[in-house]
Amino acid sequence: MIIKIMTLFPEMFTGPLSNSIILRAKEKNIIDLEYINIRDFSDNKHKKVDDYPYGGGPGMVMTPQPIFDCYKHVVDTLGLKENEKPKVVYLSPKGKVFNQGMAVELSMEKSIIMLCGHYEGVDQRVIDEIVTDEISIGDYVLTGGEIPAMVLIDSITRLLPGVLSQSQCYKDETFYSGLLEYPQYTRPANFRGLRVPDTLISGNHKKINEWRRRESLKLTYKRRPELLKNIELTDGDKEFLNSVKEDSSQAKY
Ligand code: SAM
Repeated sequence: MIIKIMTLFPEMFTGPLSNSIILRAKEKNIIDLEYINIRDFSDNKHKKVDDYPYGGGPGMVMTPQPIFDCYKHVVDTLGLKENEKPKVVYLSPKGKVFNQGMAVELSMEKSIIMLCGHYEGVDQRVIDEIVTDEISIGDYVLTGGEIPAMVLIDSITRLLPGVLSQSQCYKDETFYSGLLEYPQYTRPANFRGLRVPDTLISGNHKKINEWRRRESLKLTYKRRPELLKNIELTDGDKEFLNSVKEDSSQAKY
């Protein structure tokens, strides 16, 4: 997959995306990341990229010219077929809130262009003309789209075939199945008197899977009950959840 990131601060990406799993994905040529500095495309003799908002108000807005020209350059380098429209994601607090399902969908694209805003954001004409998806990473406002772009890149990259080994497979992880993941433990089995649940060291895989499913259901019910509406529950799951609900209603706080 090719991801081209249009940003005013390309240097922000180098550290966070040059380690661990993402670094390996780059080395294996599974992912190709390119950071393009929007400022390089400014016609202004001082390389200005922002201006006051029409209608007044605080802050500055990123001007359309450098972004349109940067975009044209990026599209030319993608070598798309005629009529093939590029996927262009604008990171924005006004966008659809990102989730694992969206990461899975984006991981199926051949190439993605990401546009990072800064200051008060970008001129609306840019969004109307070139952006295909406006995506937010949550209901809070950050100074720029760079950190949100890194969040998307990280979550998309780990889904690409060949990036995670079998042992690191994401299929058991939180959100993949629609549930929060069960608690994880590693060695030692007894750490300063704190013992790993007996089932996990029993070697009985049927019981271990059952324990994990129940812990996932319990945690999801307690922390994110709305997620349970979207998953298929077996009769056994429902029975277990009813007992959790009864226990919670009797709990003293
Ligand atoms: N004036 C904008 C508003 O009220 O919606 C906020 C602009 S914000 C200070 C600057 C840039 O940061 C945005 O253009 C966007 O690219 C990025 N940004 C901020 N919060 C974000 C979020 N929650 N998700 C994705 N991008 C965000």
